[in-house]
Amino acid sequence: MELLIAIVVGYVMLLFVCSVVKKEKKEKRKQAHREWIKSIENDDVCLPWSVECPGACPLPNPRLTIELVPQTAWFSNVRSHVSKEEWDVIRKACYRKAGYRCEICGGKGEAHPVECHEIWHYDDNTHKQTLKDFIALCPHCHKVKHAGLAQVNGEIEIVLQQLASVNKIQREEAQKYFDWAMKQWEHRSQYDWKTDISLINK
Ligand SMILES: [Zn+2]
Repeated sequence: MELLIAIVVGYVMLLFVCSVVKKEKKEKRKQAHREWIKSIENDDVCLPWSVECPGACPLPNPRLTIELVPQTAWFSNVRSHVSKEEWDVIRKACYRKAGYRCEICGGKGEAHPVECHEIWHYDDNTHKQTLKDFIALCPHCHKVKHAGLAQVNGEIEIVLQQLASVNKIQREEAQKYFDWAMKQWEHRSQYDWKTDISLINK
């Protein structure tokens, strides 16, 4: 009986320690992200302005692509244009349509199966971003889409591994593609983007 009590107490203590460590890790990531945003806001030489267009993508038609939102368009996403209730309707319909599986790799997340990702088209001539679709993605594929944020959160290895495994490429090629995507992001972040979200009214 005493042994059983000791096991139960030990287990509960272990759960408690795990939850504290997890919470601390999450808070650390959040803090790093807040500091990064602050450094960009306070320091306008943070970005290498006048970055040339990086040219053609080094990967021909990758199945899983990186889709970095230009810094100048960070707060013009769908969620900032609709109420929480409307966004819930959109994202839940997106999950259902995909059968709660990632539409790129077919996988599922552990904590939750899929997340709703907005697909935008960026016209580099007119600097207009147009909402094209919503897609259900597993958390790892979604991290790849926002790889810049994942890097800030110390999750770049997850991104490179997922890119390599879904696109069936070497890690070095995944790294090269990521570097290219970051250059494209820097280039696009030099411009103000007009937003077209007429898709959600259709
Ligand atoms: Zn996936």
